[in-house]
Amino acid sequence: MKVFKFGGASVNSADAVRNMAQIVNSEFGIQNSESTEPLVVVVSAMGKTTNLLEKLVPTNSEFEIQNSELRQQLEDYHLTIAKSLIPNDETLVNKVLDLLHQLDDTINTLSHSVTQSLSHLNYNYCYDQVVSFGELISTTIIAHYLNHLGISTLWCDARQLIRTDDHYREGRVDWQATQHEIKNIELKNKKSHSVVLTQGFIGGTDGGTTTLGREGSDYSAAILAYCLDAESVTIWKDVPGFLNADPKFFHDTVKISQIPYNEAIELAYYGASVIHPKTVKPIQNKGIPLYIRSFITPEAEGSSVGDYRTLVPETPLYIFANNQILLSILPRDYSFIAEDNLQVIFGILNELGIRVNLMQNSALSFSICINNNPLLVQPLIERLKHLFRVRYNENLQLITIRYYTQEVIDRIVAGRPILLEQRSRTTEQLIVPAQ
Ligand code: ASP
Ligand code: MG
Repeated sequence: MKVFKFGGASVNSADAVRNMAQIVNSEFGIQNSESTEPLVVVVSAMGKTTNLLEKLVPTNSEFEIQNSELRQQLEDYHLTIAKSLIPNDETLVNKVLDLLHQLDDTINTLSHSVTQSLSHLNYNYCYDQVVSFGELISTTIIAHYLNHLGISTLWCDARQLIRTDDHYREGRVDWQATQHEIKNIELKNKKSHSVVLTQGFIGGTDGGTTTLGREGSDYSAAILAYCLDAESVTIWKDVPGFLNADPKFFHDTVKISQIPYNEAIELAYYGASVIHPKTVKPIQNKGIPLYIRSFITPEAEGSSVGDYRTLVPETPLYIFANNQILLSILPRDYSFIAEDNLQVIFGILNELGIRVNLMQNSALSFSICINNNPLLVQPLIERLKHLFRVRYNENLQLITIRYYTQEVIDRIVAGRPILLEQRSRTTEQLIVPAQ
């Protein structure tokens, strides 16, 4: 069994969905001659829908009224795609409208329960209940379209398949329950469908819908592949494969054909946006290969992550993280930053669910570089200020270079002052002002 994952960019218009269906269809043709197992397809929300839905998460009781324009945009966008894919299909239009009404109800119910002081935890809960509709709508349209094309498709609700704890916005997978649910559906399906289609990014717990973290659809594909003992996972992207740098920031990118599992884990950890950080581990554990291929040139080979010893070709790899903030945390009295202080600092970071991208300790200060998300950074600074002095620098870029040379570092830094630097045998990390 193979697992395909299609991200938002691969389904962001009717033409994109047609292209995606063609990729699925040609694979189905191949599968048909070789095996009768269904193709498992994991799909994200269409285009930038998740960003839009984030703005619809209620933060106060007046919420629905203020945001009706965005809500309309959401409806127009999806209905335009649906109607272009299958003209005059009332059933599909009604299915989409039905989901949008469920979304309205969700927002209304949540906003009525929102009080002035929406706690961080409540916000995360509301977030998942709202934002998950992006994937529910996209997969509903696509499943309907594939069936319309004659590709027999079973739509599955990922909230029932991928079971998590109640860590909203960063659901942690309950592997046993998930394995159980996925086996169940495998049995029920009994090879009667060509495609089993489900949502990326979302999962379920007894208290409601959860999400696995932004860009989490890759991870969903990996979870399914793990539980199904899949033969491979293919992530269809708008780039030709795993590049040595994000083409948005870099002109002369090199495509890496082969990436060892551990290298892929390291790169994702440092923020390479090509795959979600949690994706590789589960499939590595089962030795399942991961392919990254272009939905623009589906015939091209792409990259593969697997049991390789080295990168092919061996070349420096660059990861740029923008919008970083560097916090320096200093004791209020004349004490040192020692284990007791660090424990307190990490306790707060953990409670707020903040990931540290880089840290450095000296006798008198502890520095952390984190994503500058005001929703998290503000409460962090507030909490730290009670106990420490806090200084910060904003508008920074964190650059990670694997397999660096001095010449490469100099070229990338381009004369900017280096605020913090860390170097190991393989990896150089630098914090510099954004360009
Ligand atoms: N739709 C979600 C997001 O944009 C999940 C994903 O695309 O992987 O973050
Ligand atoms: Mg996405």
